[in-house]
Amino acid sequence: MTQSLMSNRLLVVDDDPALGRLIKTFAESAGFEVFATKSPVAFAEKARVWCPTVLMLDLGMPGTDGIQLLRGLASDRCPGHVILMSGADDKVMEAATQLGRARGLKMSGILQKPVQPAKLRKLLAQFQVAKALLSADLASAIATDQLFLEYQLKLDCHVARMTGVEALVRWRHPTLGIIPPDQFIPLAQETDLIHKLTDWVVVAAAKQMAAWHLHNPALQMAVNVSAKDVQDLHLPDRLHKHCRNAGVDCAAVTLELTETGAMREALQMMDVLTRLRLKGFKLSIDDFGTGFSSLVQLQNMPFSEVKIDRSFVMQMMDNEGCNAIVEIVIDLARKLGLRCVAEGVEDETTLHRLMILGCDAAQGYHLSRPVASDRIPAFISDYQLMRGVYKTPKPSLPSPFTNARAWRRRKALPRPSTESPTFAPLSAAGVS
Ligand code: C2E
Ligand code: MG
Ligand code: MG
Repeated sequence: MTQSLMSNRLLVVDDDPALGRLIKTFAESAGFEVFATKSPVAFAEKARVWCPTVLMLDLGMPGTDGIQLLRGLASDRCPGHVILMSGADDKVMEAATQLGRARGLKMSGILQKPVQPAKLRKLLAQFQVAKALLSADLASAIATDQLFLEYQLKLDCHVARMTGVEALVRWRHPTLGIIPPDQFIPLAQETDLIHKLTDWVVVAAAKQMAAWHLHNPALQMAVNVSAKDVQDLHLPDRLHKHCRNAGVDCAAVTLELTETGAMREALQMMDVLTRLRLKGFKLSIDDFGTGFSSLVQLQNMPFSEVKIDRSFVMQMMDNEGCNAIVEIVIDLARKLGLRCVAEGVEDETTLHRLMILGCDAAQGYHLSRPVASDRIPAFISDYQLMRGVYKTPKPSLPSPFTNARAWRRRKALPRPSTESPTFAPLSAAGVS
């Protein structure tokens, strides 16, 4: 069991002792061991030796500031969840969060001052789940097949066909029910369990793929791998072996690596990624736009695909900045000869726009939610049946934001889905 997850330990630094006491009272009643201090030096020291699971820190303290403390936590490779507290405006808090994340910290929440007890209780409750998730539990979950995969379809925008799926892992916990990956992948990453988990996922996905290939030999599969996986020099051989054992061609498998993890330890990673490519795997940068990779690295690393983060795609029709990012990434991918996938497509208008922009593939709740493997063949064939109503959008729409007034007028009109029927979600066809 990892030490850091054996108990819920909360470390708090705030120059207001009354607030420290308030947090201590709430957190102790929620089962945390708490150490609250107003001294940044004591905080930094305790963070190193006490292995807190959660750290709450005030962004603006006299004599030092939260950003300096974050830098220290990052250089100590602190594995705990970091919550920022401040009365500063949202943009400052968001920038500090991004900074912490870019330095490899687990930025897990923001608590606005004055602190509201209900919000504090809710934030702390998230980490009580982590208490039950011990690495020993996860190890036995992998060994006893408590993990299972769901699959989410991907649409090829050029041919309007569902040509791939992404395998997404879940944990059926005996007492806690179904646990989503966001809650246990970080635990696996803190330990070496991530390698076992990735092996389990690739073995299960390859076996499933072999079964689907009997009827649909062109189907592609995407599997997520973590940054820690690609530090492991044995990864290419292991994954190759799993595919070979299942009778699956590595060329049908895309490995998705999140961008924040993707760009660390560049040399070792370059070795592993290059060998994965030589074995035939395709490589995708997942959640692109949320990390801080440089364009030079993007060009030099042997990626074959860029996957635009869902936070941009979901807002691209309403937010000028998000729309600009999506347009630029699609353009960048095209210029670098990479395939571009948009995830988080939640409505028809967004899909339509992505097609016009020349995005290669789309994935999102509008097309299908992650589902059990046995539902995938019906999803694909029902979708193909519905293609009869599909019309390829002409690349005539200007950027919605190039002429803001015209765009506002356009938005007042019915959405394109009602003007010219294109895709409908499968749920509308009674499939999901
Ligand atoms: P991801 O690889 O970026 O996967 C996409 C996530 O977005 C999935 O969440 C999916 O359910 C969700 N999603 C897809 N379409 C939409 C949409 O239209 N709207 C919204 N709001 N969400 C959408 P999920 O399954 O909870 O997975 C979360 C993350 O956990 C994944 O993000 C991936 O980073 C990680 N993960 C999942 N399975 C594995 C695995 O086998 N290994 C590793 N290392 N990580 C995994
Ligand atoms: Mg992914
Ligand atoms: Mg993603």
